[in-house]
Amino acid sequence: MNGGAQAAFPPWLEGHLGQLIRLVGSGQTPSGLLVTGPKGVGKGALIRAFLQRMACTEAAEGLLGCGRCNGCRSFLGDTHPEILEVAPDTPGKEILVDSIRSVIEFLSLSHSGPVRSVFIEPAEAMNVNAANALLKTLEEPPGGAMILLAAAQPARLPATIRSRCRLLRVPVPQRALVRNWLTPFEQDELGADAALAACLDRPLEARALLDDEAAQAAWRSDRTALESLLHSQSPFPVVQRFLECDLTSLLPRLQRLLVSVQHYLIQGEMDAFARLFGSDLLGPFAATLGMRETAAVYQDSLQWQRELQAPLNPNLRCEDIVLRFWRRSEPA
Ligand SMILES: [Zn+2]
Repeated sequence: MNGGAQAAFPPWLEGHLGQLIRLVGSGQTPSGLLVTGPKGVGKGALIRAFLQRMACTEAAEGLLGCGRCNGCRSFLGDTHPEILEVAPDTPGKEILVDSIRSVIEFLSLSHSGPVRSVFIEPAEAMNVNAANALLKTLEEPPGGAMILLAAAQPARLPATIRSRCRLLRVPVPQRALVRNWLTPFEQDELGADAALAACLDRPLEARALLDDEAAQAAWRSDRTALESLLHSQSPFPVVQRFLECDLTSLLPRLQRLLVSVQHYLIQGEMDAFARLFGSDLLGPFAATLGMRETAAVYQDSLQWQRELQAPLNPNLRCEDIVLRFWRRSEPA
């Protein structure tokens, strides 16, 4: 057993992983499996651990693949001939029907092992044509095919797809469990609680923030942009900061900031996310924006989220978002 891999595997997923392994061991391998649960809870980590465990030729008893055998190595190197992983070509975009056609072709090839697996994440990113194509395969799966889907928003999948899959729901883990898991990765400037707050209570993203330079750089840009929004007298430097960020990570944090502002205005308290910025910055901003505007801007932010996929000019998009904080709503 690989001690490092075991320490890194989220403990709240162990029960689910054991359940999947027993299912396969008892000959009840489902042809479709849908894993649901909130973002960052570890749906992908669970499925990948399961796939590696299935690929491993050494892990007779343990939950996790050994990490050393040929099966594990080809899985970890993305070259395992019996496993195909499908995601949008660009993060945040749709999964198109061409990707599902390659899934169907992959599953129809003759295979050497007992199971040929496809993992699609986020499954709800499939557009209508892609979902329809996959449905046909789920209705008449080739022998030995296993299709694994992960979805944070399963309601966006057609009911016909959901009903063809065995369901596995991963709930939000207990906070104490998550903190224990994160503690070995804490850093001087960023503890487990701060990392969880910065990542909107998503455990796997918090782990990445403590552990991964790209995640740290993204958080620094987002934090700088939000700080400049909190203290700047003029919108234009803020627009510049926003342009330096990836909106897919900045926008959820901006929305979370608005929730913190609202909480501060109602309760007079700083929540965990607000504490990342401090009351010197948040207090005056909250007082200026006020309750009604905070709620109105939050409503508009839902629209910004929906428009993330639209091909808009980044300059105009960032100006639109930032200038909203300098514009008062018309009286109702
Ligand atoms: Zn192995």
